[in-house]
Amino acid sequence: MFGIRSNNIGIDLGTANTIVYAEGKGIVLREPSVVAKNTKTGEIVSVGSEARDMIGRTPASIVAIRPMKDGVIADYDTTVAMMKYYIEKAMGKRSNKPYVMVCVPSGVTEVEKRAVIDATRVAGARDAYVIEEPFAAAIGAGLPVMDPTGSMVVDIGGGTTDVATISLGGIVSSRSIRLAGDKLDDAIIYYVRQKYNLLIGERTAEQLKMDIASASVEAAKDLDDQTIRGRDLVTGLPKTIEIPAVDVAEAIQEVIQEIITAIKETLEETSPEIAADVIDHGIVLTGGGAQLRHLPEVISDATKVPVFVASEPLDCVAIGTGESLKSIDVMKKK
Ligand code: ADP
Ligand code: MG
Repeated sequence: MFGIRSNNIGIDLGTANTIVYAEGKGIVLREPSVVAKNTKTGEIVSVGSEARDMIGRTPASIVAIRPMKDGVIADYDTTVAMMKYYIEKAMGKRSNKPYVMVCVPSGVTEVEKRAVIDATRVAGARDAYVIEEPFAAAIGAGLPVMDPTGSMVVDIGGGTTDVATISLGGIVSSRSIRLAGDKLDDAIIYYVRQKYNLLIGERTAEQLKMDIASASVEAAKDLDDQTIRGRDLVTGLPKTIEIPAVDVAEAIQEVIQEIITAIKETLEETSPEIAADVIDHGIVLTGGGAQLRHLPEVISDATKVPVFVASEPLDCVAIGTGESLKSIDVMKKK
């Protein structure tokens, strides 16, 4: 604080992406939450985008692991290895151990929260603290979280969708459902398999989603088809087909409806005052899933509330986690 360079960092440890925010610098690292390991020796082959490019393409001796699942740690040791690598990469090896603020989804258990704190310490943090993800997302999206007015944020990541209303610095009502970007990809894989007898990989499905998926079947009629490759389940051979955008929109409808249900339920649980505030200010979408085409319109139609996408939706949680580092100095003195 007194002339000493801060080495506090905030980590958005997401199911899909890990983002590191350094106090005084802003975002210093953005990488997929993927680790490639040698199955025989247990040795780490690569971390991040290089490891992600190996998903579905590894020989028998290598596995590409996504150590976070549904917003929580699924593979402890691999998570530690990944965080260690990212903390070192963000801080430089010679620097002092940082104090780290990490986000967790709002619905996690004490045990899951504990695991995140432990993993962060083992990975090289001097000490670790957690912040609830929707709260961080709201700060990062620039919502007036400390004011006596209700805000609503919906963070759609890879593993979870976190919905929360916030007022006076706290979460008023929230829902965390284990249904987000990954489930959209799964739904596309399933649909293509059923309709075209074609087996596609998760990277292909995700690309298809980013390129042509729409939350609205109606609006998808104006979008272009996309060429995809996979394995024909009848002949067993590689095959190329054209997928209409309407098919992709159909494929993801069920998941979209479940996200909408979670939003409606969270709205129903809030006080009339907060509901009124949300109607005035609208719902803000964050996370990678917020970028799905026509999603704001579809949610707005279903809830009768205006819906906006935050600027830089992928970075909101990291920015909010970083912003909340200011409070670490208070906690340290405890
Ligand atoms: P997490 O916090 O769980 O790591 P992110 O907020 O980083 O997740 O978002 C990752 C998810 O967002 C992935 O499922 C990815 O496929 C999805 N995504 C990224 N860009 C888009 C896009 N343009 N359209 C739809 N989904 C997207
Ligand atoms: Mg996230």
